[in-house]
Amino acid sequence: MAKVGFIGLGTMGLPMARNLLKGGHDLQVFDISQEAITKSAADGARPAGSPAGAADGVEFVITMLPNAPHVRTALFENGGAAGAMGKDTLLIDMSTIHPLESDAIAETLAAKGIQMIDAPVGRTSRHAELGTLLIMAGGDAKQIERAQPLLSLMGDTIVHCGKRGSGARMKVVNNFMSTALNVLSAEALTLAGAVGLDIKTAIEVMMSTPAGQGHFGTTYAAKALVDDFTPGFMVDLAHKDLGLALDLAASMNVPVPVGAVARETYSRARRKGLGRKDWTILYAIGRDGTNE
Ligand code: NAD
Repeated sequence: MAKVGFIGLGTMGLPMARNLLKGGHDLQVFDISQEAITKSAADGARPAGSPAGAADGVEFVITMLPNAPHVRTALFENGGAAGAMGKDTLLIDMSTIHPLESDAIAETLAAKGIQMIDAPVGRTSRHAELGTLLIMAGGDAKQIERAQPLLSLMGDTIVHCGKRGSGARMKVVNNFMSTALNVLSAEALTLAGAVGLDIKTAIEVMMSTPAGQGHFGTTYAAKALVDDFTPGFMVDLAHKDLGLALDLAASMNVPVPVGAVARETYSRARRKGLGRKDWTILYAIGRDGTNE
């Protein structure tokens, strides 16, 4: 069983630390909130008086903090964990932070001979409690393997996303997709309600098309991802259909800003002479940097 320093015992960190304790690991914990430390101590962790105290003599340090400045403070300020970490200590940063900040932190640590993997998490605090988080890990395969016994107590899906920084990048891309899609989902259901459709029925219909199923496993799998742009569904028709929706929304005074911006993207593709290509060509246009 490993000796672990755990820093950041909030909504996510506290139950994650609890799962490590349940798995038999020996935890030294720190948070700027004494209340959080007390809760973790009640779970069986040893309270530390500083990040350095949590990192003292451990094999792994885990940080689960709000953002990059908090990670930097916990690692590098007076009493910071990095001061107590040796060359054999692995930092596992599980916070969601800007990938370039993650890179900079990793480089500062590397200059001190300390290795780091980035391993931000997906899903919710309920999954943190159940130990069923999705963990997106970036870093050297050996280090990720070394961290595996800990990661597998906190999550049930651990994806090695690539070299160091890839976990942080994957998390941002994943959240880009889900947060933007949330806005579009809200627009679609608002329009459905405004035109008198039953919301449950609308969801049932959309769940059986790419609207609700998403594009990756459906249209993209059949077309863009195999570089086939012969039309399954043409850009021209997508442009027309989106126009119908925008007109309908305008007639009901329903603002659909994401839908409106999306139409510009189809217009641009048509202007480039791609109107008769498959609608998934939007991805190729973006990927190849020819969407000016
Ligand atoms: P939180 O605000 O509940 O917890 C953060 C904890 O860090 C707090 O207890 C705070 O006192 C402590 N802290 C702040 N600065 C500190 C410092 N310098 N030293 C020690 N402790 C310090 O946040 P959370 O919801 O647990 O989220 C943690 C990270 O996980 C964030 O990056 C968040 O974006 C990410 N995340 C959250 C969720 C979620 O559903 N809450 C889901 C996925 C990812």
